[in-house]
Amino acid sequence: MGTEGTGDAPAHRGRRASHALDTLAVHSGDAPDLNAGAVVPPIYQTTTFRFPAEFSEAREKGEVHLYTRHRNPSQSRAAEAIATLEGAEAGRVFSSGMAALSSVFFSLLRAGDEVVALEDLYGNTFSLLRELSERWHLSVRWVRAEESASVDQIVTPKTRLLLLESPTNPTLRVHDLDRWARAAAAVGAPLVVDNTFATPVNQRPLAHGATLVMHSATKYLGGHSDVIAGALVGSSAMLEGMDTMFHSLGGSLDPFAAFLLSRGIKTVGLRVHRQNETGRAVAEELARHPRVGRVCYPGSASAEEERIAARQMSGRGGMVSIVLQGGAPAAHRFMHALTLVQPASSLGGVESLASVPAETSHRQLTPEERQRRGIDDGMVRLSFGIEDPADLLADLREALRKT
Ligand SMILES: *Cc1c(COP(=O)(O)O)cnc(C)c1O
Repeated sequence: MGTEGTGDAPAHRGRRASHALDTLAVHSGDAPDLNAGAVVPPIYQTTTFRFPAEFSEAREKGEVHLYTRHRNPSQSRAAEAIATLEGAEAGRVFSSGMAALSSVFFSLLRAGDEVVALEDLYGNTFSLLRELSERWHLSVRWVRAEESASVDQIVTPKTRLLLLESPTNPTLRVHDLDRWARAAAAVGAPLVVDNTFATPVNQRPLAHGATLVMHSATKYLGGHSDVIAGALVGSSAMLEGMDTMFHSLGGSLDPFAAFLLSRGIKTVGLRVHRQNETGRAVAEELARHPRVGRVCYPGSASAEEERIAARQMSGRGGMVSIVLQGGAPAAHRFMHALTLVQPASSLGGVESLASVPAETSHRQLTPEERQRRGIDDGMVRLSFGIEDPADLLADLREALRKT
């Protein structure tokens, strides 16, 4: 499923670990093509590979490519880039964010295990864990946002996995990664952080003690709404230990999708810097708007969350959720009045999108479950692209006038 490096090519001579993230984003995973010298490595659109003459020796060293469900140089290139950006030793790429996450559950959990997870998770992550907890008799301790600061009192010696997202979807609440990492370390369990919303440009959870970082690379890493992909980064030893299960589950990334992902990653720095600026400008302006009841933006929920965000994030990202005065009908009028921002689910692309979480990403939850997480029916989640911030603000103002 793509270990770091392509095995047969030397590391890029021009790249150093000391380079800034924007530089690494352009050059990571770009081992030179020894045959033609192509600046962009070819797409290894092949399912299988010829056995080398020294087969068993190469296999011992883990250098041999056998079959694309296991490993392919196009996958390795994308995986290496994401690992480099997150400051990880190694990475793997998957056919979706959910494939990455379900592969983690299958690799690390056994029947009867205890899991400690933030209640505020991506809708499908929550429903998958809830479904598996029934099938595998897991005991899942759901941590409510208000209990996050005392997670050290929720873990037990039986805890086998901790799972956290920060900032959360769609309420953009911020949780203390160091605190969760200390709680995990105290009971010897791995902490898995879904870093999709923050991206490695704004937050690197491994530096705060996380064990594994997961991405829906469909979002900001791919960045162009044209590829579904997932990623997992962490230590080489840990990922190698999980590889057999990854290969058996079969959620590997298609080589062409891996190429698109690698192409997207090159501009993640530029894109996210712009998205950070737009997100801040919109959050500040809409917080004062009479038709907006509440603005959700990383750090806006409380002074404590602002302190945590300032400590662990270098930028706040391009996601802003707003709760409209007037509930669901107002949200619908607003969505249809937008002209530049398009009504669609998903996020993290170059084009701005808006969705109503109660009807899209969180429709699997009961009304009570949504209420507890602060997901009002009149909430609109905005994912800003890279359009000019003034044009986006004008579109939002005009649509708000019509709600
Ligand atoms: C989209 C998303 C996922 C799921 O990823 P897919 O690539 O759609 O499978 C998981 N977590 C978060 C935070 C997401 O936004």
